[in-house]
Amino acid sequence: MIRERAYPVDPWHIRETRLDLDLLAQSESVFALSNGHIGIRGNLDEGEPHGLPGTYLNSFYELRPLPHAEGGYGFPESGQTMVNVTNAKLMRLLVDDEPFDVRYGELRSHERCLDLRAGTLERVVEWVSPSGKGVRVKTVRLVSFTQRAVVAFLYEVEPLDESARLILQSELVANEQLPPSSKDPRVAAVLAQPLQAEEMLEQRSGGLLVHRTKVSDLRMAAAMEHLVETPGRHAITTEGHGDWLRTTVACRLEPGQKLRVVKLAAYGWSSVRSLPALRDQVGAALASARLDGWEGLVQQQREYLDAFWDHSDVRVEGDPEVQQAVRFGLFHTLQAGARAEQRPIGSKGLTGPGYDGHTFWDAETFVLPALTYTQPSAAADVLRWRHSTLDLARERAQTLGLQGAAFPWRTIRGQECSGYWPAGTAGFHIGADIADAVRRYVQATGDYDFEREVGLELLVETARLWRSLGHHDRHGRFHIDGVTGPDEYTAVVNDNIYTNLMAQQNLMTAVEACKRHPDLARRFGVDDEEAASWRDAAAAVHIPYDKELGVHQQCEGFTRLEEWDFENTPPEAYPLLLNYPYFDLYRKQVVKQADLVMAMYIRGDAFTPEEKTRNFAYYDARTVRDSSLSACIQAVMAAETGHLELAHDYLGEAALMDLHDLHQNARDGVHVASLAGSWIALVAGLGGMRDFNGQLAFAPRLPSRINNLDFSLLWRGLRLRVNVTADEVTYSLRNGGGSARLTLQHHGKEIEVTQVRPVTMPIPSAGPVGPSPVQPAGRAPVRRATPHH
Ligand code: BGC
Repeated sequence: MIRERAYPVDPWHIRETRLDLDLLAQSESVFALSNGHIGIRGNLDEGEPHGLPGTYLNSFYELRPLPHAEGGYGFPESGQTMVNVTNAKLMRLLVDDEPFDVRYGELRSHERCLDLRAGTLERVVEWVSPSGKGVRVKTVRLVSFTQRAVVAFLYEVEPLDESARLILQSELVANEQLPPSSKDPRVAAVLAQPLQAEEMLEQRSGGLLVHRTKVSDLRMAAAMEHLVETPGRHAITTEGHGDWLRTTVACRLEPGQKLRVVKLAAYGWSSVRSLPALRDQVGAALASARLDGWEGLVQQQREYLDAFWDHSDVRVEGDPEVQQAVRFGLFHTLQAGARAEQRPIGSKGLTGPGYDGHTFWDAETFVLPALTYTQPSAAADVLRWRHSTLDLARERAQTLGLQGAAFPWRTIRGQECSGYWPAGTAGFHIGADIADAVRRYVQATGDYDFEREVGLELLVETARLWRSLGHHDRHGRFHIDGVTGPDEYTAVVNDNIYTNLMAQQNLMTAVEACKRHPDLARRFGVDDEEAASWRDAAAAVHIPYDKELGVHQQCEGFTRLEEWDFENTPPEAYPLLLNYPYFDLYRKQVVKQADLVMAMYIRGDAFTPEEKTRNFAYYDARTVRDSSLSACIQAVMAAETGHLELAHDYLGEAALMDLHDLHQNARDGVHVASLAGSWIALVAGLGGMRDFNGQLAFAPRLPSRINNLDFSLLWRGLRLRVNVTADEVTYSLRNGGGSARLTLQHHGKEIEVTQVRPVTMPIPSAGPVGPSPVQPAGRAPVRRATPHH
C-alpha cells in the first residue's frame, strides 16, 4: 500500500512531523545512520515501541545451516547472516517513576529530522506522562564519518510546567529480542541469541561489553561513556550483567532547567584479535571521541559532508520531490560505502536485516558507478575486498569444475550463500560485473597501481571463468549456456545477451590489461595462447536475434515463449515471485528487471540506435519491475531512446523507492542499488553520460518539467561540472589549473574543456521519436509530468 506521503518535500532534510506506529519499521530504515562500518537503525531512543531493532557492524556475521529439501552437488551448505549486535542507542527515561513511552500518556508533538548536510538525526518530542507531568526531549545522534569506530548521542530533557524527577538509563544491550521474521525469502533469518558474553567492565559513567559469536567465532566489543551536565545535584551509577550494561543518571529539575547527557560509544570486532587487544581498541576510540567531544564530532561530520556535497551533489530544478529523493539516495550511498574500507557493501547497506546483510552485484553495478565518479577511494576499497576473497572464488570454480574464479552471487565473507541455484550461482554474470567495475574505476582514475595490485588478477581470473564456462560450437560461435541473467524470472538459459556481452567485455579488458602489465600477467600464468583464446571467444560471442520481430532475444528462444497474461494479473499479485510458481514465470515472457535493457546501457556500444529503440519498446512491455534494480536502468534507456518523460517517471520511481516505500519492504532496510541508481538515472539517463573505451561522452536532454540539471564528476583527478538547461549544456573544470584539459564528447562532437575556458554547447534538436513504450497492464510508473507524450 502506498501511504500518504510521510516526509514533506525539503531539499536537504527528511522530516517526519508525526509518529505513525504502523510505519515505524520503514522510518527506522529511512532514518538509519551508518558510515559503512557501523550501522544503526532509526529506532526510538527509548527502544520501544520498535519495528525492528538493529545495530550492525560490516561483515560481522553468524553462520547458519542452509538446509536443502533436496540436496545437489555444489549446493552451498552454510549461510551467513548479519548479526544484530550490541545496541548502544538505548536511552530510557523515567519521569517521576513513569517510563517515557509514546504509547502512553499524551504525545503532544513528535518530530524527527534527518539532516543530509549535518549527517545527524534529530528528534524533538513533547510528552505528558499519564499522571500529567510534561517533558520536552531533544536527541541528536550521529555515526561518525571521521572517526570510524564512533557513534555519539546527545540527550536533552527538561520538565515543562512543574518540577520533575528524571532518571535516564543509558544502556548497552546484547541479544535483543527480535520480532518474528516473515515467510518472505527476502527477509533475514532471525538468529536467536547469537552473542555469547565474554567480558563486562563497569565504571562509574560507562563501561564495556565483549561478546563472541558461537559458530563463526568472531569477537566484538562495545564501549560507552557519558558526559553529564545539569544544574544542581545528580547521581550517576553503572551496573551490568553479561548481556547488558546500564549507566543511570538521576536528578530533579525545575522548569527551565535541563539535563544534558552526551553518550559516546565505540565499536570494534575481529576474527583474530585477542580480547585485551579489542578492549583496548574500543577504549582508544572512546578516548579519541572524548578528545573532540560532542561539538567536535558534530563539526567534523559537517565538514566531511560539506566536502562530499561540494563534489557529489546533483541539482535538479523543477521537481523538488525528486531533488530531495536524489540527495537522500546519495546520502545513503555514501553511508553504505564511506568507511567500509575493504569490506563489502550490502544490498541494504547497514540499514536493516533484509537479504541477511548480503552483498550482490548491486554493489559493483549500481553503487560503484556513483562512487567511482564521486568517492573513488570507496569504490577501490570494495574491489580490494573482492580481491581479498579471490581464493574462495577460485575454490568455488574448482568445485563447479570450472577454471578461474566464480564469485558468489550473495555473500558476506566471500563464500557462496545462495541456497537457490537458478537465482544464485547461475547468476555467473557477477564475475563480469566485478570486471566491469574494475574497468570503470581504472579508466576514470588512471590508478594503474590499483590495476597491478588488484585489478589485473580480478580480470584474469574472471576471464578464465568465461573461457571455461562457455564453449565454441562447430561453427566456431561462442556460447555461454545454463546461466541466469539479471532477469530472475527467466532462469538457467542459454546465451543470455547481458551475460554474453559482459563476458565479452571482461575477456577483452583482461587481454588489454595483460598487455599493459606483461610481467605481472606472466606471473599469473597468462601466456600468448591463453590471451588469444580470450580474444577468439570474445570475437565469436553469440548474440541471439529474432529476425522476424526485429528484436534481440534476451536469451536463446526468449521471444518464442508464451506471453504472460498481464491483463488478468491483479495488482495484488505483484511481486509475482510471491504469488506464482517459478516454473510458470520461467516459461513465459515476463521480465522481472532490466536485463537486455541493462545490456543496452552498459554495452551500448554493441547496439545500433534503431536496435535500441525497438528492443526497448519490446522489453519495456514485458518488464514488471518486481526488483528495485530495474527502474533506474529503464530510465537510462528511456532517455537514450528519446522518451524523456518516461525517463523522468522511472527516475522518480528509483529515487522514491524508500521514501515512498514503493516495494513495501523498506522496513528491512533501504534499497541501496535503487538509491545509487537514481544517480545513474540522472547522470547516465538525462545527462547521457557514457564511458565506453576510455572516452567520456555526454548527450544531455531534459524532460519538460526539469529545467536545470547540474552534476559533477571526477575524471582522472579533474573535477568536471556539467550544467544542463533545456537548450544548452555548460561543461567546466573546477580544478586542475591552467594546463589541465579534458576532452569529451557532447552529442557525438568532440570538445575540450579547461579550467579557464568552460564550454557551452547547444543541445541538438531530437530526431523523430516513436510512440512511448507501453508497460504491462497496471505496471506503468507514476507519471511525473502531465500530459504524457
Ligand atoms: C534482484 C537481484 C538483486 C537482489 C538483491 C533481487 O530481487 O533480482 O538482481 O541483486 O534482489 O538486491
